[in-house]
Amino acid sequence: MKRSKHPNKEIEVAISYAEENGWTYKNSGKSAHSWGRLLCPLHTREGHQMSIWSTPRNSFNHAQQIRKLVDKCLHSKEEEVNEN
Ligand SMILES: [Zn+2]
Repeated sequence: MKRSKHPNKEIEVAISYAEENGWTYKNSGKSAHSWGRLLCPLHTREGHQMSIWSTPRNSFNHAQQIRKLVDKCLHSKEEEVNEN
């Protein structure tokens, strides 16, 4: 699914960073304040997700939050683990 660019440059860069790590964008639909959601590579209840605001009060902090969550999430890096 092709997403629209985020109007804020810092946040757009952070979103691109998330996508490089296997995260996906999901349209949030009705909310005017929300730009959308980012979902981590694990699409289950254990997976991470984050709401992205269109116009956060502090765009730098919001971009940092995105990066921190991407770095914290290990789901994309555990794909090869296959020990049952
Ligand atoms: Zn995750």
